[in-house]
Amino acid sequence: MPVQLRYQSGHTSDEYVTQQAWRSASLSCCPLHSKGRCGFSRHGSYPRVDPPGTRIARWYCPQGHCTFSLLPEHLAARFPGTLAGIEAVVAAVERAPSVEAAADALRADDVTLATALRWVRRRVRLVHDALRAAVSLLPELLLGCAPTVWAVRTHLACELSVLLRLRELAAAHLQGLPRPLGLRAPVHRGGGRTERLQQHLGPDPPRRSR
Ligand SMILES: [Zn+2]
Repeated sequence: MPVQLRYQSGHTSDEYVTQQAWRSASLSCCPLHSKGRCGFSRHGSYPRVDPPGTRIARWYCPQGHCTFSLLPEHLAARFPGTLAGIEAVVAAVERAPSVEAAADALRADDVTLATALRWVRRRVRLVHDALRAAVSLLPELLLGCAPTVWAVRTHLACELSVLLRLRELAAAHLQGLPRPLGLRAPVHRGGGRTERLQQHLGPDPPRRSR
């Protein structure tokens, strides 16, 4: 069972790749067995397709049959790309006359409108679901706030990267929040592995939006 943990790397997306910051990520003890003696050890790293060159540091506890990976803050969880990239798409849709108009403006020339619409709608649905969960988890901060990027930006006086800000504000709740903001493990039938799921989610058009 793979578990993702928040990694406060302090790097931008580009810095994380150029400095290979996953190499300096550290997890001092097993999250399941604080007293050790479970065989907990570094378990290499795995690649993320998007942004290119990104790798994620990973550990393994043989006793708990569990891998732990340190997800840097700027990355979307269990979804391709960065939080800022996804947020920009959803923010554009919220300000567009229609979802169709936003998808048309964002798509590359070789991407059909139908494909772009699916791509955009998926991001809008996931981000709005995550914001809805964040609003209900953080009533002291977000009570009465609509679960949209622009409403939460206004509410938190945060002009950009409100998802990144929420990672910080909701740090104690990330394991209970859904992707791409939170680190909650997906529930899926058949016992499929999350990493395989992540690969299936690889980058799809339109690429111009990042
Ligand atoms: Zn352990």
